[in-house]
Amino acid sequence: MENKSVFEMILSGDIESDIIYEDNKIFAIHDINPVAKVHILIIPKKKIPTMNELTEDDTDLIGNMFICAKQLAKKFNIDQTGYRLLFNTNADAMQTVFHIHLHLIGGEKLKNI
Ligand code: 5GP
Repeated sequence: MENKSVFEMILSGDIESDIIYEDNKIFAIHDINPVAKVHILIIPKKKIPTMNELTEDDTDLIGNMFICAKQLAKKFNIDQTGYRLLFNTNADAMQTVFHIHLHLIGGEKLKNI
């Protein structure tokens, strides 16, 4: 059987983490190692290892992840001050968890990329 990703283990309760948003397709948690005052991960319940495995069937899922991100940005009061949304893919982008996740980062002035 394929190994569970750390996010699947959080979802199943095998690893402790506060789930700050959940619906039938996606959930969100605070990053355990935040790079800014607000650092949230928006994660599909379905494991897609990297953005390279996305298909057209995932169009609504990805759209819903971005809608969730903007709602969480408002909830955590960073919608007006600003935030960054990103997916890391594979080694050069330093992806470490091979179950796609959208990073929502803000709450302070971020370094330019
Ligand atoms: P990546 O580098 O793959 O884009 O991002 C993976 C993120 O998952 C990292 O920012 C890392 O801190 C976070 N992370 C890894 N393990 C855990 C965990 O057990 N709990 C939480 N809340 N975040 C985690």
